[in-house]
Amino acid sequence: MTLSELQQLERSSVIATYARQPVEFVRGEGARLWDAEGNEYLDFLCGISVTSLGHCHPRVVEAVREQVGRLMHTSNLFYTEPAMRLAERLAASSLGGKVFFCNSGAEANEAAIKLVRKAKRTGDVVVVHGAFHGRTYGALSATPQESKQAPFAPLVPGFRAVAPEPRALAQAVDGHTAAVVLEPIQGESGVHALSEELLQAARSACDEHGAALVFDEIQCGMGRTGTLWAYEQTGVTPDAITLAKALGGGLPIGALVTGLRLGDVLQPGDHGSTFAGGPVVAAAALAALELTDDPGLLAGVREHGAMLAEGLERLPHVVSVRGRGLMLACELDVEAPAVVRRALLEQRLVLNATGPTTLRLLPPLTIGAQDIDEALRRLRAALEG
Ligand code: PLP
Repeated sequence: MTLSELQQLERSSVIATYARQPVEFVRGEGARLWDAEGNEYLDFLCGISVTSLGHCHPRVVEAVREQVGRLMHTSNLFYTEPAMRLAERLAASSLGGKVFFCNSGAEANEAAIKLVRKAKRTGDVVVVHGAFHGRTYGALSATPQESKQAPFAPLVPGFRAVAPEPRALAQAVDGHTAAVVLEPIQGESGVHALSEELLQAARSACDEHGAALVFDEIQCGMGRTGTLWAYEQTGVTPDAITLAKALGGGLPIGALVTGLRLGDVLQPGDHGSTFAGGPVVAAAALAALELTDDPGLLAGVREHGAMLAEGLERLPHVVSVRGRGLMLACELDVEAPAVVRRALLEQRLVLNATGPTTLRLLPPLTIGAQDIDEALRRLRAALEG
């Protein structure tokens, strides 16, 4: 099928929630993608921080192959080994409590919202401006962005959005607060790290009022910032984290991971999901977690992140660079969507724009110096336009 035939099918048959670029990808390996005409692309977006180990990592592919031919699904009415082993490894590598599996980031946040409300027996959830927590009703209600929320009112009650400032946040938390939910590094709003002071203020306010501090690590977790979890670099330990995106090595899985205090709040019948933690996605995630929880790989993320940030600073039209590890954004003095399109169609470099002048780069965590140089060369050409 040609690209124009696919576009025709999209127009006639697909609900138009996405503005797709005019490229059909048919194969991926490591940091590279190939389109239907055989052109090779360098992928510095990773399906929005999903294929963080590169496309089709052999160990993830092998884990999926081995499992998919043996048993694909049984439901959560029975035991399967991959989910139990994954839960044990996830909790041991982070907050030491327990895990609820689901299928996406939004669902992980839904589970977190239900858990914190049940734990406190009261409802308010405090979030900050610029946050993105997903598109389902609870997660959307926690995403204070007019354009995303307004068409879908009424939203879920009991969400309060404040400026991402320590004083505003501390004032918003009181005895009725069930939780503060924060992305340590806001992804969709353009890679903005929340300040250490804000995170500390959230921790203190939650401790004072018996509320839970939840970090949404759906985009910034799983090694993206150079430690397995982003909170490790903040000096603040949350009571729970939500995960998805890179967790499945390319397959869809989400998780809520608690610390010890919140591990037993949800009981049989409180929550569930038919596909959650199925053996194939759990086997893929176990392989992905084993590969990512590796000091050598994480040191590489920090080293190559610094290298990429330095290179970006030297490019024309780049005003500033921000981010941590391999979660980076640059502010441009030209329109970012046009640069993204030229990079894709003329230079065969995949990245995206999170705003009118903001480029976001999320390359594979396994990227090397040579591919960084090559991406910088292609991006320079796209910027020079
Ligand atoms: N939370 C964060 C920080 C995200 O970046 C995203 C997606 O971009 C979500 C939640 C929602 O995840 P999903 O699209 O898997 O529902």
